[in-house]
Amino acid sequence: MALGEWQYLRCECGGEIFQPVVKLKYKSEGGTISEPFGHTCVACHAVVDNAYMVRLVEMSKKRAERDRLNAELAEAERATAPKKAEAVATN
Ligand SMILES: [Zn+2]
Repeated sequence: MALGEWQYLRCECGGEIFQPVVKLKYKSEGGTISEPFGHTCVACHAVVDNAYMVRLVEMSKKRAERDRLNAELAEAERATAPKKAEAVATN
């Protein structure tokens, strides 16, 4: 995953399509106005928490990095182990 790459946020249900939610305000001299009030998931209709979904993405990236490092470590350990065994066998 490239640095700075855009990623889709996902609802806990897995949905990634959202609708904006607004609050409507009224005042007698000003009529009505709409005020942004977050998003709902189109799939499950839950009001979503953007910060929570961002944390899920960040944790997912960290897990992927951990798995990559574990694989790298396992490969390094595989590459190192036979030399120790050889050294023991020849002595
Ligand atoms: Zn959902």
